[in-house]
Amino acid sequence: MAESRWELQVGELVFSEGDPPTSAFLIESGQIEILTLQDGAPLRLSVLGAGDLLGEMAIIDAAPRTATARALTAASLIPIDGTQLSERIETSDPIVRALLKGQLSRYRHALHSLSGQDPATYAILHGEPERGRRAQDEGAMAKIHLETQLRNALINRTLEVRFQPIYDIPLQRITGYEALIRWSHPSRGPVSPAEFIALAEETSLIVPIGQYVLERVAEALVALRDQGVAELPWIAVNVSGRQFAELDMLAAVRSAALAAGLEPRLIKIEVTESLTVDIERIRTLIERAHAEGVMVSLDDFGTGFSNLGHLHKLRFDSIKLDQGFVRQMLLAPRCMAIVKTIVAMVHGLEADLIAEGVETQAQFDALAAMQCRYIQGYLIGKAQSLPELFANHLP
Ligand code: C2E
Ligand code: CA
Ligand code: CA
Repeated sequence: MAESRWELQVGELVFSEGDPPTSAFLIESGQIEILTLQDGAPLRLSVLGAGDLLGEMAIIDAAPRTATARALTAASLIPIDGTQLSERIETSDPIVRALLKGQLSRYRHALHSLSGQDPATYAILHGEPERGRRAQDEGAMAKIHLETQLRNALINRTLEVRFQPIYDIPLQRITGYEALIRWSHPSRGPVSPAEFIALAEETSLIVPIGQYVLERVAEALVALRDQGVAELPWIAVNVSGRQFAELDMLAAVRSAALAAGLEPRLIKIEVTESLTVDIERIRTLIERAHAEGVMVSLDDFGTGFSNLGHLHKLRFDSIKLDQGFVRQMLLAPRCMAIVKTIVAMVHGLEADLIAEGVETQAQFDALAAMQCRYIQGYLIGKAQSLPELFANHLP
């Protein structure tokens, strides 16, 4: 189907100042001049040529045209439907959107004072941004603020790494921990990583945070060793998608362990189920980890991303049963049926099962009866600070 084109003669208008925005245009050939009126006389702001986008500004902020576009030579334009652009903008990162709109609004004000009108008139003519839009922009700014505070927390070392004990049923003692990060926010107090890890993942901030956690974990192990703990526990660290993509996790684990004179097997990597979508990548990670003696756990198993067809190719050392199953299993027989199947499957894969979120003795007993190896949850203990870990971990 032929594309609809606008063929313009010299001097023909594309749009005029004040027109409602309907579409933007891609200039295929010819030249278009952009004009505004200064003290009643036309003033040329720019000349656009082949390959340039024209009239997209009014689409971005859904405001009337603030300039006039006129063909300087014969020209051919391809109209681009406004919704095509505005949908992209609406689904873009809210911070990028707020930056774009902020710049645009400044540009429009500047343009308006150029044409001799004051900004107050501009606001009356074109309206201030609607309330909903304002609120969205404020949300984006609050996010930038939070991210800056998080960055500072990392620099000032006010991010705390806590250690949640993991009980080994056959050995009848705590043999491992999971490192869980906490942010002591200056005014809000401790903030859960559920709130800020996603934020850190949106930028590369997650990478130094992950590095920070590894360093604190290595420090904790060294301190336990210095305290005379003969058989050191393993400590699992959570690795999120971006960290996985941007950081050589294994090199980081290896160097954190070796720098502290620790065996790499003491640091375990937890990858969440959603990362296993990239089978080849995760398989390489596991193979390399095993070559180094590092163990890898599959976190939040059963929450919706596992491709069972490929799971047999991934030699995880342990699989963590998501806490949602543990919460439901004694209440819903059908959930219990699934848990039993998962336990059997994990055994078949020669991996250890770690049940998360165990809060009651009844849950513990049911899991022990199924030969689940490890139990993690408030029944065993909450995440502890470093001094608590020293006080509670038995040598
Ligand atoms: P996760 O890896 O699934 O961690 C377990 C979460 O469940 C922790 O929440 C833990 O405090 C909580 N939990 C443990 N036992 C129980 C229980 O018996 N009952 C209940 N209701 N909850 C329990 P937390 O610390 O808020 O961490 C949330 C998530 O944040 C973690 O989920 C993990 O995905 C992420 N996260 C934590 N630390 C780090 C980190 O250092 N790096 C990365 N990338 N992510 C982290
Ligand atoms: Ca985890
Ligand atoms: Ca988990």
